[in-house]
Amino acid sequence: MDNARIKRSVTIVKQTAGFGLQGLNQLLWPAVCVNCHESIGEGDNNLCRNCWGQLLTCTGGDYCPRCGRDASRFALVAGACPDCQGKEFHFDKIARGGVYAQSLQKMILSFKNSRTELDSVLGFLANSTLQGSSFSKEIEFFVPVPLHWTRRLIRGYNQSLVIAKKLKHPTAKISTDLVRIRRTKSQPAMTSPAARARNVADAFAVRRGHNFAGRKLCLVDDIKTTGATLNECAKTLKQAGASKVFALVLAVAGQNVS
Ligand SMILES: [Zn+2]
Ligand SMILES: [Zn+2]
Repeated sequence: MDNARIKRSVTIVKQTAGFGLQGLNQLLWPAVCVNCHESIGEGDNNLCRNCWGQLLTCTGGDYCPRCGRDASRFALVAGACPDCQGKEFHFDKIARGGVYAQSLQKMILSFKNSRTELDSVLGFLANSTLQGSSFSKEIEFFVPVPLHWTRRLIRGYNQSLVIAKKLKHPTAKISTDLVRIRRTKSQPAMTSPAARARNVADAFAVRRGHNFAGRKLCLVDDIKTTGATLNECAKTLKQAGASKVFALVLAVAGQNVS
């Protein structure tokens, strides 16, 4: 075979391989929105424009760094909204991804229901939340809010641990030494804040040999509703000697999206 023919053959092989890979890629990773399965363009980055639009609406507002609820930054007094004045929480500060509504609500619900591929978008959201928080540099350990082992067995994973694993931080590690020792009722079934607090009272403990004493920790969870779960976890961590407990959640429920 002369040189020209060899070159042509190589080009054809390359083109065929390229086409084959593209086709395979399209077959394996069809360009659809990970949330609603609408077709998307290559530059759309996992979500369709409608879902991105809703996500931006859910994540755009100002919030109180003590409770995570909607609050204009101009309404904060001593770093807390009017609602938080005089209230004590066991966690020191909170950072939230957004409001539990629209596409964000749908993604979090699906994520807990086997759609773990949503970790790409939710991990992105968690990282921008972390970067936007005032306490990122202080964190020494991320502590995912634990599930009771029976619930983890049924679901197959702890969604909070999956999110924690997506977090990029130069030094902080993940600790799973906070455990749920009592199976609690599903919080959405609870109505009043007092009932929610009773439901999670003494539900958590730390493992023997934990490394929490004197540490600055950041709880990681998917949703904060009344904050009863985060508060109980933070109380347990503080009793174990933690010097600070922050919280990072994907969404805060019970807020309106304008
Ligand atoms: Zn979509
Ligand atoms: Zn507040």
